[in-house]
Amino acid sequence: MRVLVVEDEAELLRVIARALRENGYAVDEAREGEDGLYKAMTWTYDAIVLDLMLPGLTGWEILKRLRRKLQTPVLILSARDTVKDRVEGLDLGADDYLIKPFALSELLARLQALIRRAAGKAAPEITIGDIVVNLRTRAVTQDGRSVELTAREFAIVELLALQRGVLVTRTRIYEHIFDENDDSLSNLVEVHISNIRKKLGKDFITTRRGQGYIIEAEPESPSGGSR
Ligand code: CA
Repeated sequence: MRVLVVEDEAELLRVIARALRENGYAVDEAREGEDGLYKAMTWTYDAIVLDLMLPGLTGWEILKRLRRKLQTPVLILSARDTVKDRVEGLDLGADDYLIKPFALSELLARLQALIRRAAGKAAPEITIGDIVVNLRTRAVTQDGRSVELTAREFAIVELLALQRGVLVTRTRIYEHIFDENDDSLSNLVEVHISNIRKKLGKDFITTRRGQGYIIEAEPESPSGGSR
C-alpha cells in the first residue's frame, strides 16, 4: 500500500515515514502544501496522512481541492485540538483525525483501518481458501501453518486480497507497492508473483495474460440458491 505523508516538521515526517516503511508501506513525502496537493492529485495513494498547518497551502485547502476529484482516504494530523477544527476537517471530507502528539501504533492502526474500509473490508483478516492473510500483523498462514513472505510479496498479496475478485493491472501493482524514490529495476512484479506462488500454491493468484493478476472471487456456495 502506498501512502503520502504531508508534514512540514522534518523530524516528525522522518519518524512517521520510517514507521510506515517498517510496516511495509511505500511512502511518498511532502513538506509543504503545494507539493502535497500536487502529489496527491498526480499519484495513486491508498491513503494520505495530512498535517493541517503547512507552509503554502493549508491541510484544509488541500483537502477541499482533493475532494473535488478524489476519494482517497485522508487521516488528518494536527496539534489543533479544538472541536471546531476537528469538525471542520471531517466536514471537508477527512476520514479520520489524530491529535498530536500521538502514538505511532495508533496512527498505524487507524491508517490500516481506513485502507481496509475503503476496500469494503472492515475485519483485519481475509480468508482465501485455506490461506488467511492478517493485514494488521502482516502474517500469512496456510492450513494454520505460518508462511514467511518478504515485505514486497506481502504488499502484493495485501493489494490483491483487498481487491479479491477484481483484476489488478501490473501498472496498478507498481503504483501501490513502490514509492517515488524506488527506481530499482530488480523490482519486477512477475518475479514477486512467481515467488508468492512457490510459497502459497500456483493457483492462489491467477494471471490474466496481458491484463494483470487476480485472486479469484470466492466460489458461490452450492446451497446459496442465488442462481
Ligand atoms: Ca505543521
